[in-house]
Amino acid sequence: MRRPDPSVDTHEDDAQAECPYCGSTHTEQEHPKGPSLCRSMHFCNDCGEPFETFG
Ligand SMILES: [Zn+2]
Repeated sequence: MRRPDPSVDTHEDDAQAECPYCGSTHTEQEHPKGPSLCRSMHFCNDCGEPFETFG
């Protein structure tokens, strides 16, 4: 039996940041390498540019 997990099926707005270069939301969040807890690294799948978002 498989129970629906609400933590898997939810798509939060902050999960996909908007690319500042092309405006696409087809982005992936990457894990930060440093102790930068106030920022998050993202990678745009459309234009291939990495970018940071704050907050
Ligand atoms: Zn982009």
